[in-house]
Amino acid sequence: MTSSDSPVRDSFLVFGSPAIEEAEIQEVVATLRSGWLSTGPKTHLFEEEFRRYIGCHHALALNSCTAGLHLALDAIGVGEGDEVITTPVTFAATANVIVHHRAHPVFVDIRRDTMNIDPEQIEAKITPRTRAILPVHLAGRPCQMDAIMDIARRHNLFVVEDAAHAVEAEYQGQKVGTIGHITAFSFYVTKNVCTGEGGMVTTENDDWAEEMRLRSLHGISKDAWKRYSAEGYQPYETIYPGYKFNMMDIQASLGIHQLARVEENHRVRERWWHRYNEAFSEMPELITPLEEEGIRHSRHLYTILIRPERLQIDRDQFVEALKEENIGTGIHFTTLHLHAYYRQTFGFRRGDFPNAEFVSDRTISLPLSAKLTERDVDDVVAAVRKVSDRYRR
Ligand SMILES: *Cc1c(COP(=O)(O)O)cnc(C)c1O
Repeated sequence: MTSSDSPVRDSFLVFGSPAIEEAEIQEVVATLRSGWLSTGPKTHLFEEEFRRYIGCHHALALNSCTAGLHLALDAIGVGEGDEVITTPVTFAATANVIVHHRAHPVFVDIRRDTMNIDPEQIEAKITPRTRAILPVHLAGRPCQMDAIMDIARRHNLFVVEDAAHAVEAEYQGQKVGTIGHITAFSFYVTKNVCTGEGGMVTTENDDWAEEMRLRSLHGISKDAWKRYSAEGYQPYETIYPGYKFNMMDIQASLGIHQLARVEENHRVRERWWHRYNEAFSEMPELITPLEEEGIRHSRHLYTILIRPERLQIDRDQFVEALKEENIGTGIHFTTLHLHAYYRQTFGFRRGDFPNAEFVSDRTISLPLSAKLTERDVDDVVAAVRKVSDRYRR
């Protein structure tokens, strides 16, 4: 597979490097100097600004999206033996949190065109034990939320959205984060808004918001920053054996400025996304992502599917060939039903979810950061063309 000619780029283009600017750096430094490092005024400011950006009633900042999904399943009362319907084409965390609640992840196959859960296949999987549907807005493309909410209403189910990719997404004019019962966002390094590690949950429900906030910090009756603030020591007691899921002000310092540039960065990624789509849509070796009406795609990932029948190499070799051209890529995702734990625990086999497997075997995510230059994007296009040309069947 090694090529003797020189690579498209001299230096390696890292996949998913965050666009951190001076404002974030200055804010983190100011936070360090302030002496208030953990959950405090900046976390609360970030929550307030995020709440306003989404247009929801409650936003709770956490140390990850995974923590948010965990609290969401707690809030709606998922427990032992319950079933939660989700997609197998997602990050491990989505299904893991279901297992952490001693519940069963019930996978429903995806649509090949959107790569999101297929609403038409959901009802066949509903049983008396089903508690919730957990859709994932893969790559930043919102799921068909009208159909999903309709099914949930008719069967009395909750909808918890994994919006790790979808901060800017809208479905038919409605912002993701205001549609399902509870929504979890991620601010992990590679995500559209980045705090290093971090997440946020949103909901319209006052009781769930209060319960999630309580459980996010040990289940004690007062926030730490209120306990130790100028008012002096405040008595508190444990109401529930909660978790350690709170966000630090150091993280929120990044989040405040990342959120202020979220739309600006979206415009940049949108431009690169369309540039890729124009460059690749005529190539018979590739399947390019769907352009869809009625949604706002958050442009978190730009993914191509390779057509192995048109190439002499498979997806992993394609990824390797791009690496030799100094282009970093990601895989989002290999289908969870074929991962060791899920295969062994639930007896899934190849063939169970044909569309998930189709995508899982073919998908490649190309660099799509607001940090990319025009030159970087041209290099990616050149590298994908070069590899496709070289290994065309
Ligand atoms: C990143 C990611 C998560 C987890 O986010 P964390 O903030 O790292 O916990 C969950 N689901 C999907 C689809 C993701 O990509």
